[in-house]
Amino acid sequence: MTVETNATPAPATPSDFIRDIVADDLAAGRHQKIVTRFPPEPNGYLHIGHAKSICLNFGIARENNGTCNLRFDDTNPAKEELEYVDSITTDVNWLIAGWADHCLGVKVKGSHPAPQTINGRPDHYLASIERSSPSSQLSATSANVEPFFASDYFEQLFAYALTLIEKGKAYVCDLNAEDTETYRGSPEKPGQDSPFRNRSIAENLDLFQRMRAGEFPNGARSLRAKIDMTAPNMWLRDPLLYRIRHVAHHHAGDKWCIYPLYDYAHCLSDYLEGITHSICTLEFVDHRPLYDWVLESLELPRTLPHQYEFSKLIPGYMIVSKRKLLQLVTGNVVTGWDDPRMPTLSGLRRRGIPAAALRKFVIGAGVTKFDALTDIAVMEHVVREELNSLAVRRLGVLRPIKIILTNLAEGEVIECDATNNPQDEIPTTRKVALTREVFIESDDFAEVPPPKYFRLKPGGEVRLKYACIIKLDEIVKDAAGAITELRCTADLTTRAGGPNSDKKVKGTIHWVSASHSIAAEVRVYDRLFTVAEPGAEEDFMKVINPHSLEVITARLESSLATATLDERFQLERVGYFALDSKDSAPGKLVFNRTISLKDTWTKK
Ligand code: ATP
Ligand code: MG
Repeated sequence: MTVETNATPAPATPSDFIRDIVADDLAAGRHQKIVTRFPPEPNGYLHIGHAKSICLNFGIARENNGTCNLRFDDTNPAKEELEYVDSITTDVNWLIAGWADHCLGVKVKGSHPAPQTINGRPDHYLASIERSSPSSQLSATSANVEPFFASDYFEQLFAYALTLIEKGKAYVCDLNAEDTETYRGSPEKPGQDSPFRNRSIAENLDLFQRMRAGEFPNGARSLRAKIDMTAPNMWLRDPLLYRIRHVAHHHAGDKWCIYPLYDYAHCLSDYLEGITHSICTLEFVDHRPLYDWVLESLELPRTLPHQYEFSKLIPGYMIVSKRKLLQLVTGNVVTGWDDPRMPTLSGLRRRGIPAAALRKFVIGAGVTKFDALTDIAVMEHVVREELNSLAVRRLGVLRPIKIILTNLAEGEVIECDATNNPQDEIPTTRKVALTREVFIESDDFAEVPPPKYFRLKPGGEVRLKYACIIKLDEIVKDAAGAITELRCTADLTTRAGGPNSDKKVKGTIHWVSASHSIAAEVRVYDRLFTVAEPGAEEDFMKVINPHSLEVITARLESSLATATLDERFQLERVGYFALDSKDSAPGKLVFNRTISLKDTWTKK
């Protein structure tokens, strides 16, 4: 795979081959209104790859005054859970809030025209699903968002299956899973017709209805499309449409014991919702003929949706597979799906990454048909850019070493003005206290300094940011030889407004007062994997970075005691931080380092 290193910012009006198709369709009058969908299967939490799909689908709706449905492709109850439905709904809302939430497709209940009929059967959902006009906007709160569910269409999908049987295009097959596979052949070897392929329509209708009625055990029978067992495309070799699963469904309840397969349910759900452009990733290219076959075989009355494929987003050092992410969770490699090291939307959010930065990154990555690894530096650049304007500056010391300013009296407090955000149009300031005892970062001091060391060293001078220049006079050690404190003199004439305020020294460092600071837990994260493409490893569990989390007790300026969850902070010279939404509690502050100030990894 190639690595894209170009840190291009998100273009204001992105264009790509899918957007070109949409524009052509509108220009040619093939569609009056664009309707897209984001169709997650609720079998895990959303990850950064899904963010790309969300931003593409909602982005296209947004740019064309269209709508986009959040639809759960919930056809496999064995692997799906309500927890995932909830987390996905929350994550989608978070990502699109204030950006594309007005494009969300909504189900309108109540006053509907009488059900239409299709092939003699009522077409409930044609009648019951309408979308909002662009003017009927939803607010950004998740409470208003009502996702669509493929399982709401089970009745209709069943009716369509009966139609396929009546048309001689589907049959009930009694082969077990293993024999079905054998009969299917291989890409090099044509398949063989199932011995049940030529059952009469009447027998198929009877058996399929009895499958639904629960007369047969799991796996005893299936409904298959009758296409071509010798087709070069394996997906067309009489694919399964329905299988028997005696299991309750998280959304549909215990009404069903047969469940449709993805390829059958997806295209029809798209059709029922009036989707115009069904956008998915490249692995579905081979499924497209089946997508079209199902829709065309039913001879449906309305305009059919079309499927378009783009390449997956695979950021470096990340895993984008729900199955593998689940292994990290169940294997206790991380603390949960929302562990801030996870590439899940809930993990990235908890880490402090703003939704706007994530959108900018996934949109900027572009839409192509070629798989490529996206350099993680591109994302970091976007996140830093976003946080630079958003985050207030604060002082905090991760690994403190004590300084005694010997010319300041005990209890003396000198107030210094510190800038909150130099990026603001009119920057504001706050007071920080300089006192006799302060902490500096232990690596801002060197007893035996290397050449060109401009921070604190024996006999040397350094500026405490926003305060004054200090000079190191004495290093105090305990009996074991460990440094306990550094005794310094503060030159108060070098303070802002003082007679020597413009005195220059080569080093400026951050600090906090010992008495006017708080202790807080700070979690510093590193990459979760040691290789750029963990997903390509035979065993990705073998390339986990054992040092991906460092827990530190830091000293932070006391104003951070009132930090709130939606605030972002830059601890000057240290990085960007956010309060941890899960582990912080009254009296217990836990901060996550969202990202360092610059790329420090390359130095390792
Ligand atoms: P996973 O491989 O993680 O299980 P999935 O494709 O099975 O992902 P779905 O819930 O089916 O997960 O995905 C919903 C939508 O997100 C699909 O349209 C899929 O194509 C898209 N998608 C999944 N992964 C990516 C990715 N890495 N980049 C872009 N889009 C993605
Ligand atoms: Mg999938």
